[in-house]
Order: sequence, then structure tokens, then C-alpha cells
Amino acid sequence: MNESRPASMSSFWMPFTNNRDFKANPRLLVSAEGMYYKDVDGNTVLDGTAGLWCVPCGHAQPKIVAAVREMVGQLDFAPTFQMGHPAAFDLAEKLMDYTGHRFGHVFYTNSGSEAVDTALKMALAYHRARGEAGRTRLIGRERGYHGVGFGGISVGGIGGNRRTFGPLLPGVDHLPHTHNLEKNAYSRGEPEHGANLADELERIVALHDASTIAAVIVEPVAGSTGVLIPPKGYLKRLRELCTKHGILLIFDEVITGFGRLTTPFAFDYFDVIPDMVTAAKGLTNGMVPMGAVFTQQHIHDAFMDGPAGIELFHGYTYSGHPLACAAALATLEVFEEQKILDNAKAVQEYWTDAVHSLKGLPHVIDIRTIGLVAGIELAPIDGKPGARAFSAFKKAFADGVLIRTTGDIIALSPPLVLEKKHIDELFGKLATILKNLD
Ligand code: PMP
Repeated sequence: MNESRPASMSSFWMPFTNNRDFKANPRLLVSAEGMYYKDVDGNTVLDGTAGLWCVPCGHAQPKIVAAVREMVGQLDFAPTFQMGHPAAFDLAEKLMDYTGHRFGHVFYTNSGSEAVDTALKMALAYHRARGEAGRTRLIGRERGYHGVGFGGISVGGIGGNRRTFGPLLPGVDHLPHTHNLEKNAYSRGEPEHGANLADELERIVALHDASTIAAVIVEPVAGSTGVLIPPKGYLKRLRELCTKHGILLIFDEVITGFGRLTTPFAFDYFDVIPDMVTAAKGLTNGMVPMGAVFTQQHIHDAFMDGPAGIELFHGYTYSGHPLACAAALATLEVFEEQKILDNAKAVQEYWTDAVHSLKGLPHVIDIRTIGLVAGIELAPIDGKPGARAFSAFKKAFADGVLIRTTGDIIALSPPLVLEKKHIDELFGKLATILKNLD
């Protein structure tokens, strides 16, 4: 294993990274186990973000490591076009169990972005298969993040991710975001105010007519834009309106899937069942890239039995890759055997209290929590948005804790196996950092 600094760092064009700043002061991880990373200098770094929200069961889970090792020696690659391999089918059945059989089918991708673009394409093709080819419009939401494919950035609502990439998909509208600092500051769980924002869908329907609209896509809890939690009743209202107008509802659960809210999915937590769900990240505990789209039975039926008689012409070379399937099957076993969700539930209140104990520290202007997620919003430095939180991120890494920042919001999403001692360590260090931040 190479645990030394690379001879040169000039060629790797790093994703979503301030490349110039990073290369002047790099952060290099060389190993990981349980709740901790180790960096190139031998320091331990407590993982407050489960990597990129993707390691719910903790790092290097022996069962998942063993399953991947075994599969790579047995079946390194197998296509799933016009053929298949047993693990891909076994995993699909297990995933149906994990979703409580609310979904009839699963389509495999390799990432969250691909899952989103797959779901959007499915929505368009679904309506065509049913003889409603006029339903082509897509609706996203401001401050939504749906990955980086052209479909995902078109329905996504982050200016910085869209502005430099041309006209994007035509026929896209955005619902307003639900974040309301004045009315909902320091909320625990679902905020009180804002369910009526779902009614904005009626405005868009009135403008274009329901017969032109294919789907609405939202993150049940928006993660990448700073932990925006849906107001009480908002998602139910959105579901009602979509049903009323024959519009498909897609939940992007790339970060909320696999236990983040202490339930298997966010749709369990909010008791609102969408027509399709996108997932990735925790599906393989982050070990092998994999994404998925779960579809309700009626979506699949439309292709099999609809008047247009079309199949879905879509797929990826690595859809259902044997290593990813092995990792995902083992991950589901770990969830069950190690009672990962029970642990998440057991520490959830302690976690929530610890996050809210930061209220009143310098620069903190809001704290929001749900499940094992937290958003801590800092007042921006005038003329330098994001600089204050980024400085907290760098200090935290130097002090041995991994946090994530988006704009001036610190977003925390630890592995679900964390214990009270990890919570104490994380918030002890974070409090000191906030007290000493410019
Ligand atoms: N959707 C959501 C809600 C996400 O949070 C992310 C990644 N953070 C994605 C899609 C994209 O996933 P990936 O980076 O695996 O393409």
C-alpha cells in the first residue's frame, strides 16, 4: 500500500475542488476503518460525513470487504445486456424486501447522477408508452442537487452548477425552495412553516397544462445545499398534487436512502411514497460505485403492457457490475446483522442535542437537524461567501475531524455506527473551532 505523498499532483484534475488552493495545502487520506480515516502523516481523522454521505455502516466493514474480494476472484465482469449473473437478480429481490415491497423493480446505474438521468428518461418514456407522448416537461426545485448529468443539472437548482454549461434541457420549471430562516430557524426535525410552497405546482400546471408535464423531482431532504428539511406536510401535499394531475413524483434519495434519517429511506420517514426513487452511495456502503432507480409496478407495467409496446432503450456497460452487486448484498446483510438502524435511532437524540448545543457560538445563525444529519449555518464574511465555512473545514481537518461545507453551511452526516464518544469528540472539536474562527 502506498502511504507516502505522491511525487507530483499536477495531472489529476480534481472534481468539485478548488484545485489551486488544494495543491498548495493538500489533504491526503491513506486508510480507513470504522469511524476514522488516517492521513498521509499518520494522523487520525474522525469521519463526520461518512465520506461523501456514502459509508453508513462505517469504513472497511469486514463482511463487505470479503464479499468484494470473493467476487473479484470469481466473476470480474459480466454484461447485463441480453444476459446476466445471479448476484444482480438476488440483489434486486433483496432490495425489494428492503423497500418494503413498495416498489416492483430496480434498474442499476453506477452513480447518483446516472440514477437521476435514468429516472428522468424513464418518466418521459413511461408517458409515451402509455400514449401520452405530450408529457415532456420536467419540474425540479431551487436549491435542488441531482448530480451532474445534463438532466440532473437541468432540474437541479444550483446556479453555480448550471450557469457555465449552456442552455441545458428545454421545458424545465423549478418549484421554490422551502428554506425559510426567518420563520423556521433552529428547527429540530420538520419545520413548521412552508407546506403551502407545494401549491406552487398548481401555478406551473396552470401555466403549461398538466398534459405537458412528465415528472416532479425533489430530494426529500436536500443535502448538498445545506440540509434543507421539508416543512411539515409539504411532501404529502406534493404527492397529492402529482397524483391529481397524473404527474410522476420522483424522490432523489441518493443521500437519504440507506438509513440517513434512521429509517431505510426518507419515504418511510415521511410516509409519502413516490413513483420512483433514485439511490446510490450507501447502497454499497461506498465501496464500489453503484446507483439504482426503484420503480413502482405501474411504471414497469406501462412498458410491458402499454399501447406503444416499447422497451426502455437505456443502460450502462457497468449496470449491475458483479463487484457492486456483491458489495450491495453484503451491505444489506450488515444493515440487518449489526442492526445499523437501531444504533442510528439509539444515538439520534444525543446527536441532536449535541448539534443544537452549538447555538449561541460565534457566527452560528441557524442549526437544523433530522435523523443523523445536521446543517449548521454560519454568517458569511462580507463579499466572501463560503469563505468562513471553508476555513472551518480546513481547521477541522487539521484538528482531526472531517466535516463538509457548502456555501457557509457546515453539513454533517456521520456513519450510522457512531457512538456517544464520537459525538463528544466531533462537537468538542467543532465548538473550539467555531470559537476561534475569524
Ligand atoms: N442526487 C443527490 C441528492 C446527491 O446528493 C448526489 C451526490 N451528492 C447525487 C444525486 C449525485 O450522485 P453522484 O455523485 O454519485 O453522481
